[in-house]
Amino acid sequence: MSDTDEQDGFVINEKDIHAILMDSAGHDAIVIRDILNKSRELKGLSLKDVAALAAISDPELLGELFAAARYVKESIYGRRLVLFAPLYISNLCKNECTYCAFRARNTTVKRRALTMEEIAREGMVLIGQGHKRVLLVAGESYPSEGFSYVLRAIETLYSLKSKNGEIRRINVNIAPLTLDEFKELKGTNIGTYQLFQETYHRETYHAVHVGGKKKDYGWRLTAMDRAMEAGIDDVGIGVLFGLFDWRFEMLAIMQHIRYLEEKFGVGPHTISVPRLEPAVGSDIAAQPPHPVDDLDFRKIVAIMRLAVPYTGIIMSTRSRQLFLTLLYLLRRTANFGCIHIFCLLILFLKSYSLYGNHKAHM
Ligand code: SF4
Repeated sequence: MSDTDEQDGFVINEKDIHAILMDSAGHDAIVIRDILNKSRELKGLSLKDVAALAAISDPELLGELFAAARYVKESIYGRRLVLFAPLYISNLCKNECTYCAFRARNTTVKRRALTMEEIAREGMVLIGQGHKRVLLVAGESYPSEGFSYVLRAIETLYSLKSKNGEIRRINVNIAPLTLDEFKELKGTNIGTYQLFQETYHRETYHAVHVGGKKKDYGWRLTAMDRAMEAGIDDVGIGVLFGLFDWRFEMLAIMQHIRYLEEKFGVGPHTISVPRLEPAVGSDIAAQPPHPVDDLDFRKIVAIMRLAVPYTGIIMSTRSRQLFLTLLYLLRRTANFGCIHIFCLLILFLKSYSLYGNHKAHM
């Protein structure tokens, strides 16, 4: 057993999650309303509270759940909505994630790592569109210069100036790093370091990550420990919904958050909630084993809003465009309860766009 295997047992306790879920069904309306009232105090919820809300199916209580989420969102963020643009600098990858078109053995995808000149051109396009925040994304493999490729890309983007402005914040979504690499990354003045566990359920994790470094669940799970030890205290976590039961994943996210809060005194800055979508050369992406429909998706976002009120929730336009547009439009009406979007990851299909084929984050 490796050090990280041993450590990951302290972060995610599957036995506890299953026990809480077993106990969560059938709460009466009084209990649910007590939880919703508690959530309005903006102090967050326990794992048991989250499980109880996840079990709601009564339409009246669902309406009250969405109304509470709206209250919390408006109380803390008002009408604030933050947009940022993904910039894929490379789709080179050594891993075999069965849900992703970038996986190493998928020969149907053309591989590409942008040159610094191309990255600068992409950056200028985004600045021209008014963007000041970028999410830099790369697969888990770099051109011959190695990890310095990422550092140079960040430096290149921050150096861009135009009459339209500049990029002020570069969030980074790249594979787990060593402690020393995280220290180098910290030195580049990034915004948020994002890394999604994809699924916290170990058996599922091993079934869908069949090759490359990403097979190592513990190495990935403990990446945020190394990032924070390196001084990066602005981190984002997430799950790829559809791989395993969303109720389990929500409780696991809560366990991860509590672990980071206890160890470092601060939890993640953001939680991302992508859903599995079709990807070239992936059967599992075409037919998710645990599909999340739009109602459950709304429940996930609403419950997370109540459970961790001060953590940003990132939604991607990779999710069904229409549904997101609807969410956004309805957000503006007075009687819609689901007002809890903090960030919206916006997609720009560009000349070198690698976006459409990547179905998870590093
Ligand atoms: S999800 Fe990320 S690590 Fe996995 S194959 Fe795709 S690009 Fe590579």
